Amino acid sequence: MKKDFLKELLEKSEIYPTAEQLEKFAVFQEELREWNQKFNLTAIEEEEEIIIKHFYDSLLGMKITGWQSRSRLLDLGTGAGFPGIPLKIINPDLQVTLVDSLQKRIGFLDHLIQKLQLTGTQAVHGRAEEMGQNKEYREKFDYVVSRAVAKLSVLSEYCLPFVKPGGKFLAYKGPEGLEEYNGAKKAIQELGGNLYEMKDFVLPKQESKRLIIVIQKTAPTPGRFPRRPGIPAKKPLE
Ligand code: SAM
Repeated sequence: MKKDFLKELLEKSEIYPTAEQLEKFAVFQEELREWNQKFNLTAIEEEEEIIIKHFYDSLLGMKITGWQSRSRLLDLGTGAGFPGIPLKIINPDLQVTLVDSLQKRIGFLDHLIQKLQLTGTQAVHGRAEEMGQNKEYREKFDYVVSRAVAKLSVLSEYCLPFVKPGGKFLAYKGPEGLEEYNGAKKAIQELGGNLYEMKDFVLPKQESKRLIIVIQKTAPTPGRFPRRPGIPAKKPLE
């Protein structure tokens, strides 16, 4: 992998990866390429694109003020591990729970966790709507991150139940995020959240725009949320 390219990009963002961390990204990229030939894990295959749109993009969440590395983080709808695995590689002290409803993705993640020796990291096969009602996971996380899973009103119902009061939910969005936020304000309040901040970014090279919306949990989520599997997407909160 073009380790120097990744290193330079991260250093410009004041993230200083060690040689060991860069090697983990190289192995991650190689495993992604190999497994992608058998299973559809990502549509992005070109090396620089993986570096920018998966690795660098995943780490944008660290630019949010108040980020603590010794925390519990859940990545909802992680797919091939984004943004959770890059965040774990750079912050080895994070306790990370990766969640996805597709078993074959969990198979890849279990393999990767072993291969990269990511301690304090687990991949869980499950749906947000069920896990969010499970005491083992409900209101247990300092951070919940999620990228490319659902529009913000639906995503908030998936994610906010996992966040501890005082913790934060980071929705990784593109420019459409602003309109989504305007349509989700009431739902977010009902779920116990409040806007903490929004930060926009421009990815290098293709210059795609990104918006990270940070919602702080200010009150417990009422027990009726999340609703049954399929309902949040079918009947989004208004
Ligand atoms: N977050 C990754 C990324 O940005 O590359 C993957 C995005 S992929 C488009 C969406 C993922 O969310 C899929 O892997 C899908 O299985 C998962 N997903 C969708 N709805 C879910 C739900 N209700 N609970 C758990 N996972 C879900």
